[in-house]
Amino acid sequence: MLVDSFNRKINYMRVSVTSRCNFRCLYCMPNTPFSWEPKENVLSYEDMFEFIKIAIDSGIDKIRLTGGEPLVRKDIDKFIRMISTYAPNIDLALTTNGYFLDHLAPLLKEAGLKRVNISLDSLRQDTYLKIAQKDVLYKVLNGIEASLSAGLGVKLNVVILKDVNDMEISDLYQYAKKLHVPIRFIEYMENSTANANIQGVSSQYILDELSSKHNITELPRDNSPAVYYKDEDGYVFGLIKPHDDEFCKNCNRIRLTAEGYLIPCLYFDESYQIKQAIQDGDIKKASEILQTVIQNKPEKNDWTEHKISNRAFYETGG
Ligand code: SAM
Ligand code: SF4
Repeated sequence: MLVDSFNRKINYMRVSVTSRCNFRCLYCMPNTPFSWEPKENVLSYEDMFEFIKIAIDSGIDKIRLTGGEPLVRKDIDKFIRMISTYAPNIDLALTTNGYFLDHLAPLLKEAGLKRVNISLDSLRQDTYLKIAQKDVLYKVLNGIEASLSAGLGVKLNVVILKDVNDMEISDLYQYAKKLHVPIRFIEYMENSTANANIQGVSSQYILDELSSKHNITELPRDNSPAVYYKDEDGYVFGLIKPHDDEFCKNCNRIRLTAEGYLIPCLYFDESYQIKQAIQDGDIKKASEILQTVIQNKPEKNDWTEHKISNRAFYETGG
């Protein structure tokens, strides 16, 4: 079991398989690439898998593949199969913009993927075009339906931006409720790669908006970054409130980037390179680095709403 110096059990690793993406979301990478990381600097699936095995053997039982957009990397289904064959019982999930799910969902499910979190930022074609800088609404909606038909567990994620999609809070909620899938409203987290003119809205604003139409009760908190609520019909949805002080208390995660950096905290500048140890076949060294990352996981993130993170979401995997 992996336990950090604040007695938090660390059992969850997010693995970014690529920094690249086919969208250019305003809050993430509106002007990227300045220059992409050369492909030769990216860990091969085999190298990633070697480290994933060490992590699983040390106590990680939940792995989420992310990016960038994980579905733009070739042979992602084969990578999923490598992990699911090694550890069929772990919670193996993926976070995606949904664009390629219309044809990939059955293949991913068959490879052993259990759940997908799909970003759905609008139900309006023109608004989505504005946010993602690509005409994507119908591809994403078809991707959601294909995932449900394939039998994948589905959650939806939406980042609410002031005067862009904040008028759709209720519509997005109703859409998700109708499909019986949880939706999580994520507060926009300020960072230096985002468009400088956008602004988020607070989770309180979102809650007030939904509470004006529904009878909402807060559910007991677990170690998810989201706080969950249910409405009068028992429909469960979440708010992710990184501006809230409680956010780090139950953190159970570490992150591996596509270039082989192991990151103890999303909003902390430290990272540790595992690539050399893995490529040298030095399992002992790689395990030591994992232990160092766990021991050096900070109690709280190094970020407030007045400080902008320089770490790009598309590199850390969000
Ligand atoms: N491309 C996939 C997607 O968009 O779902 C996976 C990678 S994305 C970096 C992971 C998550 O980070 C998404 O849910 C996205 O909405 C969220 N995200 C990206 N930039 C963000 C920001 N500045 N504030 C809050 N959430 C952000
Ligand atoms: Fe791509 Fe996801 Fe970032 Fe949007 S949030 S630009 S889909 S990586």
